[in-house]
Amino acid sequence: MLCSCGKVAVYYQRYANKYLCEECFKKSVEKRVKKTIKDVIRNNVKIAIAISGGKDSLVMAKLLKNLFKNIPNCKLTCFFVNEGIRGFRDKAIKYVKEFCKREELDLKIISFKEEIGYNLDEILEHKDKLNIGKPCSFCGVLRRYILNKYALGYDYLAIGHNLDDMAQTILMNYVEGNIKNIVHFGKDIEDKKFVKRIRPLKYIPEEEVKLYADIEGIVYQSEPCPYSSLSYRHRMKEVIKTLENIDPKVKFSIVKGYERLLNYICYKEEIKRCKICGFPSNNEICKVCSWLKVIENGFR
Ligand code: SF4
Ligand code: ZN
Repeated sequence: MLCSCGKVAVYYQRYANKYLCEECFKKSVEKRVKKTIKDVIRNNVKIAIAISGGKDSLVMAKLLKNLFKNIPNCKLTCFFVNEGIRGFRDKAIKYVKEFCKREELDLKIISFKEEIGYNLDEILEHKDKLNIGKPCSFCGVLRRYILNKYALGYDYLAIGHNLDDMAQTILMNYVEGNIKNIVHFGKDIEDKKFVKRIRPLKYIPEEEVKLYADIEGIVYQSEPCPYSSLSYRHRMKEVIKTLENIDPKVKFSIVKGYERLLNYICYKEEIKRCKICGFPSNNEICKVCSWLKVIENGFR
């Protein structure tokens, strides 16, 4: 099949019914990302990029670097959180270091061990004392906390969620009736201690992120985290696949429909602060500080 430019197509964009050659495919991705973050592309902007070593964050970093290369006085820094998951994160660090060196991007590595004195593997030995259900409920919260803390002073924190991640999360919240998350997901807390999120890949399907990485020769970690509990998300993926057979644009309509819905939700919660760290929190003491108290007390 041929692309509309006459070259051999490498990709069929089913939702647009278009065959694309390598070059036109790349342009299609780049154009969408640029449009997604058009308000962010300006002089003097500072962006913290959350990078994990997976395809999404590396592709996002590459696209951001290209988009900002001619914008005066911008600062892009990659932040990598090392949870200390044996046999997993050590590989990711290698990919991330090589990538940042090749792309000449600044990289800051922060580890659970240095931040809280223990890595995730060690923490999980005490999970009952910390009242942690699944590893992700501790790790995900602490990662977000650390990233936000280090991104303070930057204008934005860039997160590598792709269109599939977005559609799955939104659908999961609807199906579970998780009203709180429906109201909060995608809406930033307006607070000086909370760095605004941007999701440059939110309209790029996962398979396009992967193809972009392959075309650009980006080497990334493809195996999942050994602790990942993706079963429910995985089932949601299957549901979306079934829906896609009926309507190839369904992931876009889930995400864009949800974004329209957010415009109608005027709910504003009073921002409370954690008494210890001062970060926005639902409780007097935030989850991270309450864990840290247990950890400091020798898991008692
Ligand atoms: Fe942490 Fe869960 Fe992500 Fe693994 S999958 S890195 S445990 S949040
Ligand atoms: Zn706190």
